[in-house]
Amino acid sequence: MIQDEKRRLENELTVMGLPGLDDPALVQVMADIVNGYPMPGERVGFFCELLNECEGARRREMYEAMRPRLFFAVPSLAACEDMIAAKAERMIRPRGMPAPLKEEPFETRAVDMVCDACAKTERFEGLTTATARLEAHKAGWGRGLEAGTVFCASCRLETMPVKVYGESFTKRMHG
Ligand SMILES: [Zn+2]
Repeated sequence: MIQDEKRRLENELTVMGLPGLDDPALVQVMADIVNGYPMPGERVGFFCELLNECEGARRREMYEAMRPRLFFAVPSLAACEDMIAAKAERMIRPRGMPAPLKEEPFETRAVDMVCDACAKTERFEGLTTATARLEAHKAGWGRGLEAGTVFCASCRLETMPVKVYGESFTKRMHG
């Protein structure tokens, strides 16, 4: 069933094609599809495969257009290109040859944040649960008004005095 879903998404993106890069709305739709890829651990791979459909300058253009819209830890363009090259190598390697030592480096972990104020949920991903949580904090999620509560970015902004928010922001930036 997941395989069918994967195939459906891949077909959708192929049909949309790359001319969509000029249309921000379509880029968002493409990003939504990548974000909604049924296997979180394969989203990076899926994204890299999409990049592989572009050549040269278009590839960077697509990367830059989509990256800010993706909700998971996106590797650098160079790292994506390494993954593409590694995959191509695996495909041409004859059966029975030993696999390269480097294993899939971009397995991700997901953390679902739930806002205690507005009940909004948002999923964050990272190489580890800790980095996924870090992504949530970067996106503004954090402690709510009472101990043990978690607020989304907009609820924190609404409920916290600007000064307090600024201080905690500064603290975050300096570890
Ligand atoms: Zn909220």
